[in-house]
Amino acid sequence: MQLSTKVSTLQTYLRQQRVLRKRVAFIPTMGALHEGHLSLVDIGQQKADITVVSIFVNPTQFNNPDDLLKYPRMLEKDAWMLENRNTDILFAPVPEEIYPPGLETQVELDLQGLDEVMEGEFRPGHFKGMLQVVKRLLDIVGPDSLVMGQKDFQQFTLVRHMIQSLKLPVQLIIGPTLREPDGLAMSSRNMRLTPEFRKIAPVLYQVLTQLRKDLDSGSLDTAVQTGLMRIENSGLRPEYLSVVDAFSLKKVITPGKHSHLVACVAAWAGDIRLIDNLMLKGSLD
Ligand code: AMP
Repeated sequence: MQLSTKVSTLQTYLRQQRVLRKRVAFIPTMGALHEGHLSLVDIGQQKADITVVSIFVNPTQFNNPDDLLKYPRMLEKDAWMLENRNTDILFAPVPEEIYPPGLETQVELDLQGLDEVMEGEFRPGHFKGMLQVVKRLLDIVGPDSLVMGQKDFQQFTLVRHMIQSLKLPVQLIIGPTLREPDGLAMSSRNMRLTPEFRKIAPVLYQVLTQLRKDLDSGSLDTAVQTGLMRIENSGLRPEYLSVVDAFSLKKVITPGKHSHLVACVAAWAGDIRLIDNLMLKGSLD
């Protein structure tokens, strides 16, 4: 595996690969890697000849400075995990490489309200910062395919919207959410959970699966309220539990009128914020 910290060295290597007509898959991450991230690397390897993984804790997508400060960083261990998974290139730049002074990197785009609901409501500015870094990384790497996880469903939806709106020449591929045996979605943040909260945290997945069961029997509103109560009673502090159309992210009133439905949840486990989601109807691939 080659480690690049500079845009210029990465691009020199990628140019050589392109001359050889190699296809490139790209997996952007913020590090503190787990099996969920590595499953995206596996997908990349099936789709392309070269896999590039980036590790960059992007400051512009953190609305909470404390969260940015506390975000786990473990580059050496990450590099070892990627090497063992046959990743070709690890791109681990410093912020100045991504945001050099004088370079305009903001993405100007009508987000059609996709950034205003759910995560957008509780993390103002998060998605603009996320799109900014994804667009910049796509410009740097120029991959044939971009692999992202369903774990961050709203993020995936916004990136799909950006790719379609700007007609970016890249294929977006979604990877399923990998879970711990008890159902908790794998996340870099899980390692910061206290043992008590770690025990409680799978309630989010339990509530999502219950919603899927309840979809056809009775009122959706009641099912959502019951789910919220169950999260609260468990000791987590829910921010939202929403059933939305999987494309417009608009709240669903009549489930029967939609072909693709997703339930999304966010809750605090002490000072750790967890998110999860589950398709209730339809599939994304
Ligand atoms: P992050 O490092 O949290 O920004 O995540 C990098 C990529 O990994 C994103 O596309 C995430 O959606 C994806 N990802 C995070 N957790 C999981 C998971 N449990 N299963 C599959 N993909 C994941």
